[in-house]
Amino acid sequence: MDRHERIVIIGSGPAGLTAAIYAARAAIPPLVIEGLSRGGPPGGQLVNTTDVENYPGFPKGILGPELMGLFKEQAERFGTGFLAGDVESVDLSKRPFTLKIQGVEGDLNVTADALIIATGAQAKWLGLPTEDRLKGYGVSACATCDGFFFRDQHVLVVGGGDTAMEEASYLTKHASKVTLIHRRDDLRASKIMQQRAQENPKIAWMLSHAIEEIVGEPGHGGVKGAKIRNLKTNALSDVECQGVFVAIGHQPNTDLFKGQLEMDESGYLILAGKKGAQTATKVPGVFAAGDVADHVYRQAISAAGTGCMAAIDAERFLSH
Ligand SMILES: Cc1cc2nc3c(=O)[nH]c(=O)nc-3n(C[C@H](O)[C@H](O)[C@H](O)COP(=O)(O)OP(=O)(O)OC[C@H]3O[C@@H](n4cnc5c(N)ncnc54)[C@H](O)[C@@H]3O)c2cc1C
Repeated sequence: MDRHERIVIIGSGPAGLTAAIYAARAAIPPLVIEGLSRGGPPGGQLVNTTDVENYPGFPKGILGPELMGLFKEQAERFGTGFLAGDVESVDLSKRPFTLKIQGVEGDLNVTADALIIATGAQAKWLGLPTEDRLKGYGVSACATCDGFFFRDQHVLVVGGGDTAMEEASYLTKHASKVTLIHRRDDLRASKIMQQRAQENPKIAWMLSHAIEEIVGEPGHGGVKGAKIRNLKTNALSDVECQGVFVAIGHQPNTDLFKGQLEMDESGYLILAGKKGAQTATKVPGVFAAGDVADHVYRQAISAAGTGCMAAIDAERFLSH
């Protein structure tokens, strides 16, 4: 089965759904390919979290899945169409663009005059079973999002790159102590970031160490500690802590676009930065919004902001 749309949006996180609200209200009701599992769940990364306290408009905070339910309701209200499925491949070499979709109700091809890519990114995790169980209960991959919950507590940060240094430094604003754990003796982070973290008296260091298990129960106060292996002596120690921040990088969901769109060395989409259409890629008619093109801010509000911009850019592209 084939169908044609004026605007197709790939992804139903804050970027995709904000783009949908703006496109639909500009009288171009788009089709949103929601995503199933390939690049995260429908609703995006916030569906996997509990309290969101920094999204404006919700002074008492809101649960991540509830917030994304409201985004969707608002997009539906103005006529956005939704398709439950994953985009398997795209052809951006000719117009209309073609998307092959593996949908819940079968495979289909969708063609589009304009495309908004909002496929987001996924945090890289350590892969421990205890880490998975405690995500949202003391285990996090975002200090800006969750640091506030750890006032006067001890937290661990795992990683050795710039992100880990930045997360550790940021967390010292809230936590009483931050211990940075890294598998190697040397850090990948830039010298300036290392120096800033090393000069911070609230940061302790466990280099050549690795977390083997995170201790705690989701229903009983979350993280209580971690079992940490000294990789030089093989000794295992118990460390009490209330939070574990994994800062080993993010993976943007851009495999689909390899060879067709410009990306940086980590796979983030590079925007053409055109005056008057900041979300444009090098391919006319293809726009990108949210974490898929942003390794710096990675917040729901910044994703929503660029989603709005992408819809305005796409609408102007179509009307010219
Ligand atoms: C645990 C956690 C807690 C967080 N807490 C906060 C917070 O408190 N405040 C805050 O501002 N930010 C928070 N963030 C960050 C925030 O979630 C992200 O910045 C935001 O979700 C990015 O939005 P996005 O729309 O760009 O992408 P995403 O939310 O990642 O959404 C991507 C969408 O694309 C879809 N997709 C991917 N590949 C395909 C494909 N091939 N075909 C179809 N669909 C596809 C996915 O299914 C998903 O719907 C948190 C992140 C995490 C992981």
